[in-house]
Amino acid sequence: MMTRQGLQTVLVTGAAGFIGSHLVDALLRQNLRVVGLDNLSTGTKSNLATAMEHEAFTLIEGDIRDRETVEQACDKAEVVFHLAAVTKVAESLRDPQKYHDINVTGTQNVISVAVNKQVSRLVFTSSAAVYGAPAKIPIPEEIPLNPLSPYGASKVEGERLCHEVADQHNLQAPQLRCFNVYGPRQPIDNEAGVISIFLHRARQGLPLVIYGDGHQTRDFIYIEDVVEAFIRAATLDTVSTQPINLGTGTAVSIRELAEEIQDQVPSCPIDIQYEAPRTGDIYHSVARINRLQRTLDFTPRYALRNGIAKTVEF
Ligand code: NAD
Repeated sequence: MMTRQGLQTVLVTGAAGFIGSHLVDALLRQNLRVVGLDNLSTGTKSNLATAMEHEAFTLIEGDIRDRETVEQACDKAEVVFHLAAVTKVAESLRDPQKYHDINVTGTQNVISVAVNKQVSRLVFTSSAAVYGAPAKIPIPEEIPLNPLSPYGASKVEGERLCHEVADQHNLQAPQLRCFNVYGPRQPIDNEAGVISIFLHRARQGLPLVIYGDGHQTRDFIYIEDVVEAFIRAATLDTVSTQPINLGTGTAVSIRELAEEIQDQVPSCPIDIQYEAPRTGDIYHSVARINRLQRTLDFTPRYALRNGIAKTVEF
């Protein structure tokens, strides 16, 4: 992939997390110097096992809310990938302040340091949670945002900060609204990680549990596609300042997903357990991806079957 001329050092916040650690590995493969910043609250050093062996990688253990730490991490960085966040919808309903502190105040801090350090681009990780229960499917970026949780609201606020900085300073801040990302290293303790939860149960010979009738749909995007889109957002010569949906554009029902996993994991029981729908779960979510295709010149490559096969292999 083409990198902008002179691009040598990048900062990844949330580097020890699921998505961040894959991004770090990919950036190191492109011969960049990578600084990772993470407080290891949900991320782990084991996610960074490959990166740690690389002399071009430095991990700074610290908090994005701590100005000095972010300044140290941002030193010499030409691009910042900002992924660090708390990400659990249910927890955000119980503790909205924590979500504001980390996802909004923390983001403000990272953006402010990036401006001071004259970083040229900051890629912000937003989420489909900004839409809430969308009035239109597939979801176009332009529809009014209606987050149903403090987590979603914190991402709306993060996007707003990106717009503000792009207007006032020389920092381009594209925002990628990730849909349901899956792949190796995805933890099983986050309610959003249905594929990793299903795979975990399937391997243990436990029946898959579906909340609701199973016809609800999601847009599952494989981690390698996500990483490629992030790198494009950082390296293409021009980039949209508008938020970009990062999904596949394909709706998959939870029932179809369960059947795919039953097909691919021999120890998975045939029976599916149905439970009452969880409050707050939205019914349909799938991205309209025209903007992704037009502005990042990118169409995700992995169909669900292939992405699951790679995850199972891992
Ligand atoms: P993750 O929890 O694995 O990664 C988040 C990382 O941020 C963790 O390593 C955690 O330790 C770190 N972190 C949290 N608070 C921090 C703080 N105060 N200071 C420094 N580091 C901190 O989750 P993920 O799934 O890899 O998510 C990465 C980003 O992608 C998040 O911004 C999330 O909101 C966004 N996102 C993820 C998905 C998905 O499907 N996984 C979907 C939409 C958006």
